[in-house]
Amino acid sequence: MSLAIVWLRRDLRLADNPALHAACAAHDRIVPVYIHAPDEEGDWPPGAASRWWLHHSLASLAASLHGHHATLHLRAGDSLGELTTLIRATGAEAVYWNRLYEPAVIERDKRVKQALREQGVAAHSFNAALWREPWQIATKTGDPYRVFTPYWRNLRTQIDDADPLPVPQPLRGATADGGVSIESLELLPRIGWDAGMAAAWTPGERGAQELLELFADDAVNDYAEGRDIPSRHGTSRLSPHLHFGEISPRQAQAGLKALLDRRGGKRPDVEPFLRELGWREFAHHLLFHFPDTPTGNFNAKFDRFPWAEADQALLERWQRGRTGIPLVDAGMRELWHTGWMHNRVRMVVASFLTKNLRQHWHHGARWFWDTLVDADLANNSLGWQWVAGCGADAAPYFRVFNPVSQSHKFDAKGEYLARWIPELASAAPALRHEPWKDPSLLRRSGYPAPMVDLGESRAAALQAYQAVKG
Ligand code: FAD
Repeated sequence: MSLAIVWLRRDLRLADNPALHAACAAHDRIVPVYIHAPDEEGDWPPGAASRWWLHHSLASLAASLHGHHATLHLRAGDSLGELTTLIRATGAEAVYWNRLYEPAVIERDKRVKQALREQGVAAHSFNAALWREPWQIATKTGDPYRVFTPYWRNLRTQIDDADPLPVPQPLRGATADGGVSIESLELLPRIGWDAGMAAAWTPGERGAQELLELFADDAVNDYAEGRDIPSRHGTSRLSPHLHFGEISPRQAQAGLKALLDRRGGKRPDVEPFLRELGWREFAHHLLFHFPDTPTGNFNAKFDRFPWAEADQALLERWQRGRTGIPLVDAGMRELWHTGWMHNRVRMVVASFLTKNLRQHWHHGARWFWDTLVDADLANNSLGWQWVAGCGADAAPYFRVFNPVSQSHKFDAKGEYLARWIPELASAAPALRHEPWKDPSLLRRSGYPAPMVDLGESRAAALQAYQAVKG
């Protein structure tokens, strides 16, 4: 009887899982294993919100495997050591996994692959996370892309309508001794700050499919416009599910098509949604080719930028949603409460931090890393560098988002503000955007006055930018 280990990482699904599929096709039995090894992720072990998600995602995967009479084997510690122990205990001939693209993980995986082969164990890796892998898309001269639009034009021609892989049949699991319980991984917070996340999300493969259905039923019809309105469920909210590999881009694309076909009627234009998934691919392309970008400015000119001294008190007001700028505070509170923030508002809070407060984008990226359920090294680094102006294909530094006009434009009735800033909910909608216009409202509600003058801080940011220009 031939047996293989399927080493699951951030591909926490049974359908469209190439490593699982190949292992089941080539071997009589498989041992699905997840090894908790946060120390192997370099400077970016999963943050608190990601650990919460991971706990529930592993529980969901274990239940799905159980439905197929298979057991998810959990271990903790050094990945190679744990795999080696498991190989000895089970007599496995091969290890299968799906590739990840963070620099520290790539290095770890290379070491593991080589060591396994030296032990005489076959090691097979696959692409499960992306339409095309970072090295499969290149400019005419063979270089990586640095600008999104030509990258997307190229990638788009390479995306086909191939059906995702089904759940392998049969999926015959084998048991293995040893292993640990999910609880022993201590992924959940000790003090219960996670109620808001639990109410907002259903981690796991089924939760992802439910969100895709919801998206196909409603938001996709008006995505190009609706995606900018933070008070609406105008986007898919698939980001944490994509990050943990509970759904692949191919499944999102094919699933959406199938759902829309079934629904009939006028077909909405799904291109703008695919293009956003294209940004995700572009982020992975950049991280792979420019592995320093989680901390290094993509545009080296920004190494000269005169950031203000890190100021803990000021950072804390931003983190807690107490800046006195309603759209910024609403976004930061949405993040704290649900582990997610609307994309438009992410741009506004990031611009406020890096331009109006002139705090280094690293502080924002770290806070997002700890608090986002979709914290993703590729997307987060791209997002922060884009807003700060130092990224590949970034927004020009001099384009400082005005949080008040953004608020008027994208939350005209102040609904998003009222939802996340209850102190302002009873104020007239027009005042919610600029509560300082009525000092008695600030007094009554306890909502703070703005921590900076938006005009003056914008001018100071543009002045500071002179150091980088040219
Ligand atoms: P949809 O609009 O439904 O888009 C579908 C998918 O496309 C998303 O799930 C996501 O995987 C991808 N996508 C959409 N927009 C972007 C984008 N701008 N860049 C890269 N991929 C994108 N996204 C993360 O997944 N993880 C992060 O850590 C992250 N950090 C960010 C930090 C900043 C400062 C900014 C401005 C953006 C960041 N984003 C990040 C990108 C974006 O805000 C989220 O992907 C999006 O809000 C997720 O919501 P959704 O799934 O409903 O998106």
